[in-house]
Amino acid sequence: MAATDVLKPDHAGARRHFIFNNEHEQLRESIRSFVVKELAPHAAEWEESTFPDWVFSRMGELGFLGLTYPEEYGGQGGDYYCALVLAEEMTHSNCGGLNMGIAVHTDMATPPIHLFGTEEQKQAYLVPAIKGEKIACLGITEPDAGSDVSGIKTRAVRDGDEYVINGSKTYITNGHRSDFIVLVTKTDADAGYDGFTLFIVDMDLPGVIREKKLQKLGMHASDTALLAFQDVRVPESAVLGQVGKGFYNIMWELQGERMIGAAGCVAAAQHVFDRTLRYAQERQAFGRPISKFQVTRHKFAEMATKIETARQLNYTTAWRFANGEYPVREISMAKLYASRIAVEVADECIQIHGGAGYMKEYDVERVWRDLRLNRIGAGTDEVMLEVIGKSFGI
Ligand SMILES: Cc1cc2nc3c(=O)[nH]c(=O)nc-3n(C[C@H](O)[C@H](O)[C@H](O)COP(=O)(O)OP(=O)(O)OC[C@H]3O[C@@H](n4cnc5c(N)ncnc54)[C@H](O)[C@@H]3O)c2cc1C
Repeated sequence: MAATDVLKPDHAGARRHFIFNNEHEQLRESIRSFVVKELAPHAAEWEESTFPDWVFSRMGELGFLGLTYPEEYGGQGGDYYCALVLAEEMTHSNCGGLNMGIAVHTDMATPPIHLFGTEEQKQAYLVPAIKGEKIACLGITEPDAGSDVSGIKTRAVRDGDEYVINGSKTYITNGHRSDFIVLVTKTDADAGYDGFTLFIVDMDLPGVIREKKLQKLGMHASDTALLAFQDVRVPESAVLGQVGKGFYNIMWELQGERMIGAAGCVAAAQHVFDRTLRYAQERQAFGRPISKFQVTRHKFAEMATKIETARQLNYTTAWRFANGEYPVREISMAKLYASRIAVEVADECIQIHGGAGYMKEYDVERVWRDLRLNRIGAGTDEVMLEVIGKSFGI
């Protein structure tokens, strides 16, 4: 730069973060174009009916369900950041329940099969899941154990060359539509954290009972199930990973789940911010657009700062995760912070909309209801604070 040049801020310039390259941006564009054209138009309808299964087969056909999985299993062989791109672009569906149902499939239930599964399990479950031919769900939470995963009661007892599973799981996303579940069980009640084992269980086996569809505050487009397992017999080959290693393996799974959840929160917050900014520039009060009141301008400034802070924390943490670190403390911070600020942003956006924000027609109240889950699901705020606090040895 020459001494005579004048530096001016370029507020409208592209803000691509250094973790993303041109291929990520092309992927972003193709996912967004699909989401806007083929999913978003159905958002209102799916709030009433839950989203249909064809979304999985269509996304499988387009390669979006296996972005980070190896090509030999039908995946796209992309890096970890491709998963973030998917989570971010799905928010353009305006349908939080749909985004959650897809994320459970792509980033929660199938990663343990890819990392811990046998070749036979990958062929039987991962390959059809990537194609969208089989739908996955993940069963950790039980009626009497959520935050305290070690308190689960679902038992898998060995009987010859089979295991017999008894117990129940609740709040299971995709639980009604799924073809299989990645199930957390206890195989040895006396072994502490070494007494847990994961199984892949076909949902059409005798003894698997899909009990009621649960009604919720938000995420209406997703299905949420209470499931019972009554003397469900599975072969030894249904064990996912090593017997006794299930607790550690599901804790690993939760790190990816939290990272993706954090990315979705920031993208959703950005999305509702953008829409609210347009509204504030159009809505008139006292002879001027409401965006021209200083108090409104400051609300946007506060929100933008929170969103940007959360985004930077997410990307730096994702970079560490993608580069082989296991940054549990930072993932917990990212998940905690992104969930909180997303809810705060959605709440402020309702306020800026005034009465319109309270009306279903403007779709801001739904964003708040959907985002509210993130402070609970995949580990509550309080659990994240416990993980962060304990990481300092206190
Ligand atoms: C819509 C929805 C979808 C979900 N999808 C799935 C799914 O697909 N699969 C699945 O397995 N689970 C799923 N969950 C479950 C979710 O992960 C749990 O709800 C969550 O982990 C909290 O568990 P809990 O509901 O049992 O709450 P609890 O553990 O009973 O917690 C109640 C309160 O106590 C607090 N608390 C608990 N322990 C501590 C502590 N040590 N210190 C301080 N405070 C504490 C919590 O923070 C919370 O505020 C879903 C939940 C919802 C609502």
